[in-house]
Amino acid sequence: MATLLTGKPVVERLAADLAPRIDALARAGVEPTLAIVRMGARPDDLSYERTACKRADALGIAVRPIALDEFAPQEALEAALHEVNHDADVHGCLLFRPLPSFVDEARVCELLAPEKDVDGITLASLAAVFTDGHRGFPPSTAAACVELLEHYEVPLAGKHVAVVGRSLVVGKPLSMMLLRRNASVTVCHSRTENLAGICRSADVVVCATGRARAFGAEYFAPGQTVLDVGINFDAQGNLCGDVDFDAVEPVVAALTPVPGGLGTVTTSVTMAHTVAAAEAALADGRGV
Ligand code: NDP
Repeated sequence: MATLLTGKPVVERLAADLAPRIDALARAGVEPTLAIVRMGARPDDLSYERTACKRADALGIAVRPIALDEFAPQEALEAALHEVNHDADVHGCLLFRPLPSFVDEARVCELLAPEKDVDGITLASLAAVFTDGHRGFPPSTAAACVELLEHYEVPLAGKHVAVVGRSLVVGKPLSMMLLRRNASVTVCHSRTENLAGICRSADVVVCATGRARAFGAEYFAPGQTVLDVGINFDAQGNLCGDVDFDAVEPVVAALTPVPGGLGTVTTSVTMAHTVAAAEAALADGRGV
């Protein structure tokens, strides 16, 4: 039986860390505030927004939703981000993606001020992840993986971690963050040969491909720690991860469940980034 690496204790620890910091900001007259910008009303965006609002409310963080029409011109989105950048009361901004296909996503992402980029979408934030720099924040999902591994004291230094998936949201930044913690990282993708063999040879496997229950027992070996980043729906409409939980759980040492694993930690990490952004703004004399 594998140990379940649930997100709940990680979320509780993050909340306990944030509480005195949010109190200190309140005493200085600052309410950490997160803008959530979306175009249209995709069900997954709305669901994420509800979760984020609930978590923010529980922590004492304000949320400012900015909802644009699905067919609003790119200029309207650019104007919204411009407003966020210049509003000293807003400390962080979450932009839901993918954006509609007529929007130049790369250009729009670059408009956000890096100090408000709490989900690592700007090149400045990503450059900081790759160079150990200090601008912006890493993408929240990648940071949530590290947060969870560190919470459960999973050894990383000198260990072999296989990261399956190379997106800029998860795989690439996570690989850099693990490298910084002295792991030896193999980044795998859809062209990787002998994927199952590489995964079996690792101490830690991170599955971030977006394929429902695609990783069966043949990808894993006894003693491993497995992080399942996937948020998928199977043919019956059930929420599931990339890992075939029932088949893999008897094989490995520890595994994150879906739901109840990394998803909840990701939201909390975004909140922690927002508080850090508010603290930085206060220290710089912005917004007071
Ligand atoms: P992308 O679609 O951007 O990337 C998927 C990656 O998986 C690509 O690098 C792709 O390889 C790789 N891949 C696809 N098929 C295979 C295969 N057969 N074998 C090996 N690798 C493969 O997805 P994201 O990174 O944005 O998201 C990944 C998953 O994580 C999704 O389920 C998403 O819902 C979830 N997610 C979860 C979050 C959370 O908070 N827990 C937040 C964000 C995402 P290639 O590059 O070669 O195409």
